[in-house]
Amino acid sequence: MKPVTIIGAGLGGLTLARVLHMHGIPSEVYEADASPKARAQGGMLDIHDYNGQLALEAAGLTEAFRAIVLEGRQAIRALGQDGGVLFEKGDDGTGGRPEAQRADLRRMLLNALPQGTVRWGRRVTGAHGLGGGRHKVTFADGGTLTTSVLVGADGAWSRVRPLLSASIPEYAGTSFVETYLFDADTRHPAVAETVGGGSMLALAPDQAITAHRERNGTLHAYVSLTRSLEWFDGIDFSDPAAAATHVAAEFDGWAPELTALISDTDTPPVLRPHYSLPQGHRWDRVPGVTLVGDAAHLLAPNGEGANWAMCDGAELGEALATHPDDFEAALAAYEQAMFARMSRADDETAMHLEETLGDINPEDLLAQSHEISVTTEQAAKDSA
Ligand SMILES: Cc1cc2nc3c(=O)[nH]c(=O)nc-3n(C[C@H](O)[C@H](O)[C@H](O)COP(=O)(O)OP(=O)(O)OC[C@H]3O[C@@H](n4cnc5c(N)ncnc54)[C@H](O)[C@@H]3O)c2cc1C
Repeated sequence: MKPVTIIGAGLGGLTLARVLHMHGIPSEVYEADASPKARAQGGMLDIHDYNGQLALEAAGLTEAFRAIVLEGRQAIRALGQDGGVLFEKGDDGTGGRPEAQRADLRRMLLNALPQGTVRWGRRVTGAHGLGGGRHKVTFADGGTLTTSVLVGADGAWSRVRPLLSASIPEYAGTSFVETYLFDADTRHPAVAETVGGGSMLALAPDQAITAHRERNGTLHAYVSLTRSLEWFDGIDFSDPAAAATHVAAEFDGWAPELTALISDTDTPPVLRPHYSLPQGHRWDRVPGVTLVGDAAHLLAPNGEGANWAMCDGAELGEALATHPDDFEAALAAYEQAMFARMSRADDETAMHLEETLGDINPEDLLAQSHEISVTTEQAAKDSA
């Protein structure tokens, strides 16, 4: 059997390769990164029982996943801008969204593949159709390959997507600035206390500070700002201290235990603009090629992208295993199911968020947070 050609060794591509392997279908994964450790993999991911965990089950990795879950990290708290707790929920282990480090998840998937499945340092520059469902893929190193089953799992800026769709991701209006505080229980005890044992969010209109407790007392923060790209151009991120000061100034008047997540960062602040494809992005069938994950349905981060990418990988793998003599039928069946699933995804996210937060709705939290800040500002004015 000719191998399935997968471009990209992110969570979507690797889950697909693993599920194919479970069914005895060979695959080759071409990845731009030079090695598994070439790039930091980002922070914690909560893996949901309605998508990511189902994918890991299909990949036969439920037990391996349990072994990398960081206990207690499903605890969640929402704070006002003054650092006061508006809402808090502990982790009793029943939350349905256990947290693991993305790097551990990726390593787990890599270890579950036959040696040599991933070809590192193979950056794809483009692909074109040869007719009859065959495609030619070109690499930055000058190499080429031809394949009759091509899967773009190459993320937001997919080089495979143009074979199927003319859509290009657009800036979604909000960016994260990413910071880390290391060994926070010792070095930043007040901030560590404020973040708590799991995740913390402090909201305001158009901006927020969110943070996660990772392994070894590391606090990983995403500072969210709804601002134009031109506004971010005004920050010199090549000067980490100045950039942190500039971003922290947007949270003037907030509790120092919250703003310290920005001003005391142990790493240079990193700007992560959010891009998205049009809602409900889909395409007409093109024989021999399809997409999974962000390449197919990139959305601004909403806690679901990695989960859906793994889900795509697992479902495509199972579709190919169900139609071993007719991969074209498999690709068509996968796409139809994936398009339908993704058109319901927003509702599903909202429903599950409601289950997590119970009676509290994020808009109420925002309103409460706003009221506190107005009251605090007024009190400050009164006392002045
Ligand atoms: C700041 C931030 C926070 C997020 N937090 C969460 C979260 O908490 N929960 C969640 O579920 N999702 C989260 N997401 C979304 C999630 O990261 C993505 O949806 C998910 O990684 C998509 O997986 P993927 O496999 O489709 O693509 P990717 O993870 O982007 O993997 C694509 C792979 O393809 C490789 N590649 C790219 N181009 C080429 C090329 N030309 N040739 C060869 N290889 C190539 C890349 O190096 C990469 O390894 C977050 C996203 C961001 C930006």
